[in-house]
Amino acid sequence: MPLQVTFSAPAKINLSLDIVGQRPDGYHLLATVMQSIDLSDRVTLTVLRQNEHAEAIRVRSTQTDLPRDSRNTAFRAAALFCDAADLDLRPGTGIGLHIDLEKHIPVAAGLGGGSSDAAAVLLALDALFPGRVTAGERDRLALQVGADVPFCLHGGTVLCEGIGERLTALPAWPGLPVLLCAPASPLLTRHVFAAYRENRCQPGPDTAAVLRAVQTRNLKALADSTANVLEAVSMFLLPQLATIKDALLACGAEMAQMSGSGPAVFGLFASEEACREAADRLRQRLPADVRLFVCRSQTAGPQQIRDGV
Ligand code: ATP
Repeated sequence: MPLQVTFSAPAKINLSLDIVGQRPDGYHLLATVMQSIDLSDRVTLTVLRQNEHAEAIRVRSTQTDLPRDSRNTAFRAAALFCDAADLDLRPGTGIGLHIDLEKHIPVAAGLGGGSSDAAAVLLALDALFPGRVTAGERDRLALQVGADVPFCLHGGTVLCEGIGERLTALPAWPGLPVLLCAPASPLLTRHVFAAYRENRCQPGPDTAAVLRAVQTRNLKALADSTANVLEAVSMFLLPQLATIKDALLACGAEMAQMSGSGPAVFGLFASEEACREAADRLRQRLPADVRLFVCRSQTAGPQQIRDGV
């Protein structure tokens, strides 16, 4: 058994995002097309055969302000997996787990970084302890960690409905040039949803037309039919988002839209060259604290990139 595995944990963007209802317990029902992109964290799991430490699961991160306890999605995913797999984590007799997060995905940006780290942990533990948990159980554990985690387990281009548990894989759309703009100012998901409930001011996407556009890989048709219902309230909370979106469109993006509950805004381009040129121009136009990432869509979720010690 390898003692250590490393997985990539790719970010996602929402090609469209609609809220179609709310459950009595407050959860929003979504219809969103998610797309994996090639900006990834690296998640390394190390198994200690005999744990000498008081904590069974230890999280370390290159981003030092992230929580390291059960508030960390990677920690929660590991704890749920170990419980479901009946792994002994008792100090002294049981195993210990170290989780190292090499963060590259901007945090709290609407790019699903925490969700993808959790998905990578579930897949890494499955690689380390094969057969302990079925694929169906893994999907259920993923949803317990968060609404975006089931998508992150699978990755690619997917219509996600319900509270994130109903996934319909769509034809892959690899290599789509994406320019991500991540402002430094945070936007808390719960604030955005609260503002949305008070205002509900933006029409949603035409999801059926979005699906046709994705199926035919038609960027123009996607631009004409898509929307993110959370975008207007997020722009009200953080007016810089409208400036970024306008700048992306002025620099040649076929479409530009906020991802998730923001504040990251992405542009989609007809070619890699157009995407790189836009990045060069935006570096001059936008404040220096807006981080830019030239990326591409990809067809997979977390992938194993290294094993063994
Ligand atoms: P969502 O849209 O699902 O709310 P997001 O993609 O906008 O998430 P994340 O980067 O997942 O944002 O971070 C959301 C919050 O989760 C942050 O406040 C962060 O402190 C916390 N968090 C917990 N674990 C992690 C993790 N492994 N990586 C990033 N953030 C984490």
